[in-house]
Amino acid sequence: MGDQNIYLSNIKRSVLVVDDEFINREILGGILEDSYEVLYAEDGQKALQVIEEQGPLLSLVLLDLRMPNMDGFEVMKQMQQDVVFKNIPIIVLTSDESAEIESLKMGAADFIKKPYDMPEKIMARVKRIIALYEDRMIIQSTEKDELTGLLSKSYFFEYASLQDRFHPNRSMDALTVNVSHFHLYNELYGVQEGNEVLKIIAKEMEKFANAHEGIACRSEGDNFYLYVAHQAGYEVFLDDVIAAITGDTTVHNTQIRIGINSEVDKSESLEMSFERARMAGDSIRESQKEKIAFYDAKMRQQRMFEETLIRNIVDAIINGEILVWYQPKYNVEEDTPRLVGAEALVRWNHPKYGMLSPGRFVSLFEENGLIQVMDEYIWGQAAAQVKTWKEKFGVTIPISVNVSRIDIMDEHIVETICNIADSAGIDRKDLHLEITESAYASDTENLVDIVAQFQKEGFVIEMDDFGSGYSSLNMLTVLPIDVLKVDMRFMTNLMEDEKSLRMMELIKEIADFLNVPMIAEGVEEKEQMDILKKMGYQMIQGYYFSKPVPKEEFENFIKG
Ligand code: C2E
Ligand code: CA
Ligand code: CA
Repeated sequence: MGDQNIYLSNIKRSVLVVDDEFINREILGGILEDSYEVLYAEDGQKALQVIEEQGPLLSLVLLDLRMPNMDGFEVMKQMQQDVVFKNIPIIVLTSDESAEIESLKMGAADFIKKPYDMPEKIMARVKRIIALYEDRMIIQSTEKDELTGLLSKSYFFEYASLQDRFHPNRSMDALTVNVSHFHLYNELYGVQEGNEVLKIIAKEMEKFANAHEGIACRSEGDNFYLYVAHQAGYEVFLDDVIAAITGDTTVHNTQIRIGINSEVDKSESLEMSFERARMAGDSIRESQKEKIAFYDAKMRQQRMFEETLIRNIVDAIINGEILVWYQPKYNVEEDTPRLVGAEALVRWNHPKYGMLSPGRFVSLFEENGLIQVMDEYIWGQAAAQVKTWKEKFGVTIPISVNVSRIDIMDEHIVETICNIADSAGIDRKDLHLEITESAYASDTENLVDIVAQFQKEGFVIEMDDFGSGYSSLNMLTVLPIDVLKVDMRFMTNLMEDEKSLRMMELIKEIADFLNVPMIAEGVEEKEQMDILKKMGYQMIQGYYFSKPVPKEEFENFIKG
């Protein structure tokens, strides 16, 4: 084990000598001061103070047992109760043989007999215990990565934190190194050759780590971690790795990308530091040109923004910051457009960030499942709104709500939405469910099954963003759909672009074939509406009529 501590061996570790007798402190200090930073305490209370101050920087406590105020046993007892301090080894200083067993039981690592014998012996014991404890900290996961010979991930983190402990002020960089499209490489050339590439990278990383007071590991698959003293740039390292790969005639060429969290914030966990490096690396995943990316202020800000939203969402619902706005849908088959419904669209009136559109948070909440909490609230609000307007104006305005793919993955989703509609006291057919076409892309069978259940329970199903290109034509015939909403992007070029026009016509034909009505969304201009009317589109939603508005404002459309 010893050789793994090489780069730590040149620092002067701190040792605390606790003894109420001045002469004893003097003797031990004299022995140790050349090799160690020696601190002193004359009783248990003072000792705990020093331990508190030094924390994990303290490498060893030499502890007398019999002292006034607080004795050595009490010090040991208190240290045992602290997660950090219990890892600091203790050597008991005693002339009382019977106390030895007792102190070993309490967690002492060793003892030194008074009166003190040969200084060399004491030195050797101190040295041995410190080395033993440092090694023990990392010995728990000594296994190395079999393929590359690099440290295992847990060993790596253990070792990195030890390094931080001894060099708290050394500025460090956390790096992730990935092979671009490694799965493709494996598929093309075989796992064997893929492994060769990993070995080459590992070798270069180890070389670099050794040269820069650092360590390297393979975290998993084709992901590597590097923790090294701060460097101004990594172009040379990148070039070296690439050269090593291209220089090896047994493997095919491949590219790597590096994510860097430069000068990590040591108040964060190491895992977090590497997570940020990974984020940076992921940001150039699709780039052909860029191979190095730094975790920067913008990412930091976005991250903080996202973390705030995640933390705030539940309170935001309770505090009424989550608003439901409504956008009218009009039937345009006759000369005068007729209000036939509304789409509920979420807004977040955030106290710090102002009015947020769903584009800022919906996919974030889809990633971590919080979308369910938010959507259930929106659905409840929308259902209640149907009821309120019916009572207030004597007309039923069906409201469609957006149902995310993530919502549907919940096994109780059908029950949940039935309950929401029923307890609001509305007809289920007046709550329309908008499910985006892309939701059907994966796990199609299960999705079709659930949507069919919704339909059976009486809800109207609108397929949102239709034409965004996921469902095949033959699948459409088995999908339970009551309304098709055309993807907005065709609308943008409707007037200039022959292809968009053709698409809209084609989609209308499909809808006719399926015998379902169409909604054109994102209609902003009168010209667009006229074309769509001519094509036979029944319903229109878009800025031409109105943007999404708060419920009070929407009432103007109901009044007509
Ligand atoms: P979507 O379901 O396709 O909703 C239509 C979006 O287009 C809305 O954006 C709407 O404001 C906008 N829009 C409507 N007419 C026009 C127009 O004429 N021109 C243009 N340029 N835009 C128009 P919004 O409100 O920002 O919502 C964006 C997306 O966020 C929605 O797309 C939907 O996928 C999602 N979303 C909104 N509310 C919710 C919700 O409560 N739950 C879930 N899960 N998703 C929601
Ligand atoms: Ca929608
Ligand atoms: Ca849409």
